[in-house]
Amino acid sequence: AKTQRLDKFLTATTDLTRSLAKKVLHRGEVTVNGEVVKNAAQQIQPTDKVSWLDEPLELVGLRYIIMHKPLGYECSNKSSHNPLVTDLLEGLVNKERVQPVGRLDVNTSGLLLLTDDGQWLHRIISPKYRKAKVYRASLAEPLVADAEARIAEGLQLDGEEQLTLPATLKRLTSQLVHLTLTEGRYHQVRRMFAALGNHVEALHREAVGNLWLDENQLEPGQWRELTEAEMALIA
Ligand code: URA
Repeated sequence: AKTQRLDKFLTATTDLTRSLAKKVLHRGEVTVNGEVVKNAAQQIQPTDKVSWLDEPLELVGLRYIIMHKPLGYECSNKSSHNPLVTDLLEGLVNKERVQPVGRLDVNTSGLLLLTDDGQWLHRIISPKYRKAKVYRASLAEPLVADAEARIAEGLQLDGEEQLTLPATLKRLTSQLVHLTLTEGRYHQVRRMFAALGNHVEALHREAVGNLWLDENQLEPGQWRELTEAEMALIA
C-alpha cells in the first residue's frame, strides 16, 4: 500500500462517489487518527486510521468473486425489468466497481465470475487468451451426427462472417452436451446449436478455465470470494 489522497481513500473504501466524499469531508464526518480532517487532498499513509462517522475504514484489495448465477438475473449494469447479478452482492464493500466477467444470459445459470480488476477480467474474456468456458446445454432435439466435426471446424452464425473459433463438444446423452468455448459472442451457445438445426432449452455454465462450479457448495444466488488456489485454476 502507498500514500493516497483522502478523497481517493474514501471512494476506495466506501460506496461514496468523489463528490459525495467531498461533502462528508466538508461536514466533518471523517477523522484521521482521531482528528477531524476536511482537506480532501491530505495524504493518507498506510498506517493512518481513517474513520467515517466513527466507522473505521479499511483498504481492501481487488475482489475476485465466484457466483452461482441464478436464472432470471441479468449481467448488465443497468436495470431493465430483471434484477441484476450485482444486486446479489449484499454486504460487499464498495461493490459499485465489481462487475461480471463477461455475460451470461438472463435465462442461463451457472458459474459467473465478478471482479473489480479490469486486467484480470480482460484476460478471462478475451479470445486471445483462449480461456475455456464449459457449458452444459439441454437440447430440444437429438443432436446431428456430425456436430463434433462441425463445431471443431467452426460454425457460421446467423448474421456473422467470422466462423466461430474451434470448440469441443462432448455428448452426455443424445440431448445433453458439454460445449467448451474460448470466446464469448452474443448468445453464442444458443446460436451455435441453432446453426446445427437444434434449439437450446436450458443452459448452464459449469467451468471457466479449470475451475468448476460445485453446486453442492454454492447454491443459485450464492457467492463468495475465490481462494488463491481457485484463482490459479482460472488464470
Ligand atoms: N452462450 C449463450 O448463448 N448464452 C450464455 O449465457 C452464454 C453463452
